[in-house]
Amino acid sequence: MSKKIKIVVLGGGTAGWMSAAALAGVATDKVCEVVLIESEEIGTVGVGEATIPAIKEFNDRLGIPEPEMMRKTRATFKLGIEFVDWGEKGTSYIHPFGTYGKTIAGTDFHQHWLRLAKAHQVPPLEAFSFAVNACRAGKFDFPAENKTAVNAAYSYAYHFDAGLYARYLRDFSERKGVKRQEGKVVQVQTSPDSGHVHSLLLESGEKIIGDYFIDCSGFRSLLLGETLGVSFESWKHWLACDSAVAVASERGAFFPPYTRATAKGAGWQWRIPLQHRTGNGYVYSSDIISNDEATISLLSGLDEPAITEPRTLRFEAGKRACAWDKNCIAVGLSGGFLEPLESTSIYLIQIAIINFLKLMPGKVADPRVIREYNRLIDLEYERVRDFLILHYHLNRRDDSVLWRYCQRMAVPDSLREKIELFGRRGYIEQYRHGLFAPPSWLGVYMGQGLMPENVEPLVGVVTEERVRDELSGLKAAIDRKVAQMQDHEAFIAGYCPAGT
Ligand SMILES: Cc1cc2nc3c(=O)[nH]c(=O)nc-3n(C[C@H](O)[C@H](O)[C@H](O)COP(=O)(O)OP(=O)(O)OC[C@H]3O[C@@H](n4cnc5c(N)ncnc54)[C@H](O)[C@@H]3O)c2cc1C
Repeated sequence: MSKKIKIVVLGGGTAGWMSAAALAGVATDKVCEVVLIESEEIGTVGVGEATIPAIKEFNDRLGIPEPEMMRKTRATFKLGIEFVDWGEKGTSYIHPFGTYGKTIAGTDFHQHWLRLAKAHQVPPLEAFSFAVNACRAGKFDFPAENKTAVNAAYSYAYHFDAGLYARYLRDFSERKGVKRQEGKVVQVQTSPDSGHVHSLLLESGEKIIGDYFIDCSGFRSLLLGETLGVSFESWKHWLACDSAVAVASERGAFFPPYTRATAKGAGWQWRIPLQHRTGNGYVYSSDIISNDEATISLLSGLDEPAITEPRTLRFEAGKRACAWDKNCIAVGLSGGFLEPLESTSIYLIQIAIINFLKLMPGKVADPRVIREYNRLIDLEYERVRDFLILHYHLNRRDDSVLWRYCQRMAVPDSLREKIELFGRRGYIEQYRHGLFAPPSWLGVYMGQGLMPENVEPLVGVVTEERVRDELSGLKAAIDRKVAQMQDHEAFIAGYCPAGT
């Protein structure tokens, strides 16, 4: 009997093809064979256009050439997300993929900035973020290799057409030996003794047997949810938006290296610039407005004319009680969904499949491996959840039921403690692994208007005068470097123009 494990991936959306590509990129022919089943008739969710910097690690690990991938997916660069009207109406801040300043005498930069800001006029904190300045100027370049340089303190992600990305990964996977099977699964057969998934029966009558089944069947969660009965844990009481309407519009003259998320009465609207079009959508709570009202609001808030028909999607924030049960692992929407505010879904797919590779089982998985996998995935989901809730909870808007509810709702203890620690003394917990690093929390705390009451006593080690000098030197260095960068659009035209 072959020692190779047979892995069946059900679903050819972003999750299915990312899973297949990762397995094929590092494991096929040596430890496993991979079959992917997808049904064109069912189709994919096909939204998902914004990513976070971790995607670059994923692509690099697979050996995917960046300019080629960007050309084929019509991608642009992303240095952060602009949040408009989130703290309160009329405000805007950027959550950058990068740090704010540098530590001074071993103490975090923001503590020194706070100390000065409490007593004097100082430029806003975001003036000391290289990535924010590049965003505001509409510029792009790669981070400097010299890690101490002012223009090294950031990373980047992409805006891309996720359908084209899945297509790209399909070609990649097939070249590496993944077998693709077109067909609809009409029955899932389980072993009577173990309850494990044994095989998938296709409409054509063909039966696909496997050792492991990666469930990438989308919201339906055909294997983990429907077949194995793993329950769905709803987080709707914290993340109330349960619907979205999406539409593409013409590519605009405004071509920024960042996503824009504008808070509205019943949720928020995204704007994602690709090379050939702009992606737009309104994520909202259906308890507050109807689909028709949301569609009208979305269309009237576009910067450019729409080029597709608006499409409505329903979802619920939350996750399955566990991501891995028996011989089935849910990746993507079948395992859970947290709304796209911080573009984390593709990251959650990536982390699911990378952790699976890290804990790659033999023909039969050790229960301890499964427990560890589930612990890692739960942690990621909870951290993303808390970070998302933060944006809603720390609002000072008074214009709708949604925003008032979010201000008052009881948040998870894990988040409440973080907010209190920051509010008292500007402290931010540093995770050893996973999302999100302190600058991200800092960006959102400050952007939403939470000013710490006190600063760390250790800032007193240096004089205010020295801090002022450091701040003005840093700002001048950032301004100088940003001025030398190319416009984002020109950079794309030279590096990865679509259609070439
Ligand atoms: C409004 C919205 C905006 C989003 N924006 C972002 C974003 O900006 N960034 C981001 O990272 N993510 C985003 N996402 C999430 C992203 O769309 C998904 O994480 C991603 O598309 C993965 O989907 P999936 O592959 O799990 O499921 P799907 O795309 O639904 O794919 C399911 C697959 O399963 C197959 N299938 C299902 N049942 C069967 C069957 N019986 N037989 C055979 N095949 C079957 C289908 O054919 C399909 O191939 C967004 C999601 C929504 C709802």
